[in-house]
Amino acid sequence: MSMQQAQDPQQRFWAKVNKTPDCWLWTGGKTGEGYGVFSLHGRDVRAYRYAYELLVGAIPRGLVIDHLCRVPACVNPAHLQPVTPQINSQRQGLRTNNTSGYRGVCWRTQRGKWVVRVRVGGTVYSGGSFDDVHEAGRAAAELRARVYGSGWSPSMAVWPHS
Ligand SMILES: [Zn+2]
Repeated sequence: MSMQQAQDPQQRFWAKVNKTPDCWLWTGGKTGEGYGVFSLHGRDVRAYRYAYELLVGAIPRGLVIDHLCRVPACVNPAHLQPVTPQINSQRQGLRTNNTSGYRGVCWRTQRGKWVVRVRVGGTVYSGGSFDDVHEAGRAAAELRARVYGSGWSPSMAVWPHS
């Protein structure tokens, strides 16, 4: 057994948490969506579930944890709320519709990214996903230019407040 595995799991866990005044950020391994993963007794557990169960208590059966702060890597129990899967997906739907201030750019909670899409008639064109909302806005403008062709003017793409 290595030294690391011989350590107390809680000690190992908190060594990987960066407690900011707001979110407690997991600095260890993460899922593709950005959720923290912690190796416990040879199994991978979600870091935020482990933190919640350590500091608050067991997560009621059938419930999932919603990140109220929208930061997948966060393990601060004050930001975690057990909800039914139905409520969780309803909330994610609402957030997905949140506008970014840019046409054709919306936030995808599952991916933790700004996603670019342009719809023309019944066709949806994908312009990729971005960490930076302004980059996504530029990509959306370029995609619209390609999709709409000569009928499009750059001024149409600019959000008035940016
Ligand atoms: Zn948080």
